[in-house]
Amino acid sequence: MAMNGGRIVQLAQGVDDTRNRRDALGREELLRLLEVAEQRIESLRRNERLQLALYEIADLAGGSLDMQDMLRRIHAIVGELMYAENFYIVLYDESRQKVRFLYFVDKLDPYVNDPDAELDFDQAEATLTVTLLRGGVALRGPSRDLREQCGIPYLESNGPDSADWMGVPMLREDRVAGGIVVQSYERAGVYSEEERVLLAYVAQHILTALDRHHAREELEHRVEERTRELRKANLDLQAEVVERQRSQELQRALFRIAELSMTSETLERFYAEIHKVVGGLLYARNFYIAMLSADGSMLEFPYSVDERDAVRRSRRVAKGLTEYVLRTGKALLADRPRIAQLEAAGKVRSIGTLAYCWLGVPLLHDDQVVGVIAVQSYSSDIGFSGRDLELLTFVAYHIGSGLARKQAQDKLVVAHAGLEQRVSERTRELAEANAELVEQMGERLRAERKLTYQASHDALTGLPNRVQLLERLARTIAAARRDPNACFAVLFLDLDRFKLVNDSVGHAVGDELLVEAGRRIVGTVRGTDMVSRLGGDEYAILAEGLDGPAMAEELGLRVLSALGAPIWIAGRELFPTASIGIAMWHPRYDTGEEMLRDADAAMYRAKGTGRDRCTLFDEEMREEATRTLDLEADLRRAIHSDAFEPHYQSIVRIGDAAVVGHEALLRWRHDKHGLLAPGAFLDVGEDSGLIEQVDWLMYARVIADMARTDMPGYVAINVSPRHFRSPDFAYRLIDLLEEAEVSPSRLRIEITEVALLDDAPRISETLDMLRERGVLAQLDDFGTGFSALSYLHRFPIAALKVDRSFVADLDGEARTESVAVIRAITALAGSLGIELIAEGVETESQRERLIELGCVYAQGFLFGRPEPLP
Ligand code: C2E
Ligand code: CA
Ligand code: CA
Repeated sequence: MAMNGGRIVQLAQGVDDTRNRRDALGREELLRLLEVAEQRIESLRRNERLQLALYEIADLAGGSLDMQDMLRRIHAIVGELMYAENFYIVLYDESRQKVRFLYFVDKLDPYVNDPDAELDFDQAEATLTVTLLRGGVALRGPSRDLREQCGIPYLESNGPDSADWMGVPMLREDRVAGGIVVQSYERAGVYSEEERVLLAYVAQHILTALDRHHAREELEHRVEERTRELRKANLDLQAEVVERQRSQELQRALFRIAELSMTSETLERFYAEIHKVVGGLLYARNFYIAMLSADGSMLEFPYSVDERDAVRRSRRVAKGLTEYVLRTGKALLADRPRIAQLEAAGKVRSIGTLAYCWLGVPLLHDDQVVGVIAVQSYSSDIGFSGRDLELLTFVAYHIGSGLARKQAQDKLVVAHAGLEQRVSERTRELAEANAELVEQMGERLRAERKLTYQASHDALTGLPNRVQLLERLARTIAAARRDPNACFAVLFLDLDRFKLVNDSVGHAVGDELLVEAGRRIVGTVRGTDMVSRLGGDEYAILAEGLDGPAMAEELGLRVLSALGAPIWIAGRELFPTASIGIAMWHPRYDTGEEMLRDADAAMYRAKGTGRDRCTLFDEEMREEATRTLDLEADLRRAIHSDAFEPHYQSIVRIGDAAVVGHEALLRWRHDKHGLLAPGAFLDVGEDSGLIEQVDWLMYARVIADMARTDMPGYVAINVSPRHFRSPDFAYRLIDLLEEAEVSPSRLRIEITEVALLDDAPRISETLDMLRERGVLAQLDDFGTGFSALSYLHRFPIAALKVDRSFVADLDGEARTESVAVIRAITALAGSLGIELIAEGVETESQRERLIELGCVYAQGFLFGRPEPLP
């Protein structure tokens, strides 16, 4: 500005010089000089205005105005240089053949412009603007003349003709990038060549300003984008950290529970510690554990801590929230309105202080709801969430098994004490008996007689033993062969859950129970019936002189009811029950063993159908028994002829269904029954021990298949728990692989939790050895067994297969529990670096849920059925 001001001063001095010489020069000459001077002044002024304009335009591009504001200012600047009431800027993208009216102001043309709308240039009708952009040469003059020169017809939609029209192109490196147009509707000749030069000049600067503005916007946009990305990445990271912490917390809590059930000295301590653990996971100031009494009529509260209700007394099962959870077997999260709603529907009647928010989940044992664990809040600002519900459900799942373990352990402690007492008692008794013996040396004869008796009697109960029973049966059968009306029966009796008593309460108590049971059976049967103890907890009754099967069953029921009365042993009350199988005499029997065997089979059926009952061996059972025998014989033959083959089912990555491996599933090509799945013969195979041989045939086939094809990923074989009893299982498997030259890392084994129960050190040795060679182990049917988390630490497990019952439940009733369990397993597996495979995925919705739950691998009909190799 200062510089421009200086020029004006200089110019004024020039005029003064001229005036000084006025006298010497003629008038005309003077006028001419004056005119020249004025022209120079005018030209300099214009120059100055132009400079100023260009400077301002450049300035605008660097500022922070938005595009339309900037264009409005540019318009004003052009307006100072020339008449520009009607003014527009058009941009042209030659490579894409698009035009855009970036700015448009016109007092007569009603065209409403959208500066963002792109128009197709190649389809545009002929106009002066199009000619300007196409030719890249400025146009100037009355628009009608220009149109006629270019052969453009008049179209009303293109706006009225103007008296003077001037358009200049904007050029970027010799290519047309747009144009600027000014026009006047009233006056012709407004725009001279000088204006054209001026506008062309300004146009180039406008283009530069537009480019700069655009670049700046682009940059800002990128910065913003990047900032957004970073912010999001940061949030994701934070979420991940929180999620990880949570899963670690949960995992710690679960281990703590597992550990507590082993270490806490008393049940009370165990509950208190559980409370502490739960308190670490969620708000648990008010916490109680409710247990259903054995007969289901009472609710007991072995543990309760509460701000309001200091004591929680045992009560008859009523209609409280706790009972609601017990009844439905489902977790309940209820705030005040929900409680009110349940009350209104008559489903619950509140007991105790009304909570603001109440959360209770069922405690399960052996699939039975045995209790409830509940937390509640009495304050309106503390509530529980769905997440809390899932946490508590999962914790409860583990408390259930912990509790069972703890209770069994407590019993064991009691039993131990009892045992010690009995040992010392017995020692005393023995000493006494010994003294007596010495005294009664003369009674040696009697002692001898006693010995013969013992050979045919059971030492513990004094009842006849198996040998004596079979002798008598042989005689009875022989007599029945001569008498077509003979009717007798063998009743086979087995105490229910006796092993449990023996294992948990101790052998001493078990022995007493056996003696007492024998006494009761003898007391119930008729004098002519023979009661014998076969061994263990098995008894047999030979009942002769019957009038039919009904009478045998009646006898059985009488025995059962005598056994059912409570027994007091070692200070505790036991309720023994038994299952009885009956075989009626039939001429097809040749030996007593055969009758005993059938009575045994019927007894198994009685146990299978719910225990504490009496079952008659019938034709159907006979057929089944024959079938099992036949099946076993068939199985032996099939092993000889190697009639087994593997079918393969793919294991996929759930997200994109990419195949990561296969499971080899056993099929038996039976010569009569066609292709059999394992369900049809696995039990027989396991019971007879034949499954081991079948498995080895199968593994050889699988490894041969692997050697001759290149199936993608790994192949998993199923390993029966029996294999872990043979010490050379791992070597044999590795040998097979080496012989076939198949890399061990292509093979995996699937084992169930049952396999891990047996002899832990040996099993982990086997698994370690296989893993060293590259054969990884997957834990099958996870969630159905003990799901003891400590396995995952103790044994080298590479993958967990979540049992298909959980996956099926995702679509069903027990969805919440299933989701909670799967989510926790996912978290746990993730933090231990163990792969997770969901089994039995059949529907798209299961697939979607599993993805949401973070499950990575899956297997199921949705992805492919088991199929033989082509
Ligand atoms: P598993 O190890 O749990 O094998 C998965 C079973 O689920 C297979 O039954 C398979 O056909 C079935 N399955 C797969 N996807 C789906 C699905 O989407 N829906 C449903 N409903 N089922 C699905 P399969 O072939 O009948 O085998 C039954 C069981 O027999 C196996 O259960 C495994 O425990 C055992 N088994 C299979 N092959 C062998 C073997 O070679 N040796 C031994 N010892 N046991 C085997
Ligand atoms: Ca399996
Ligand atoms: Ca499975």
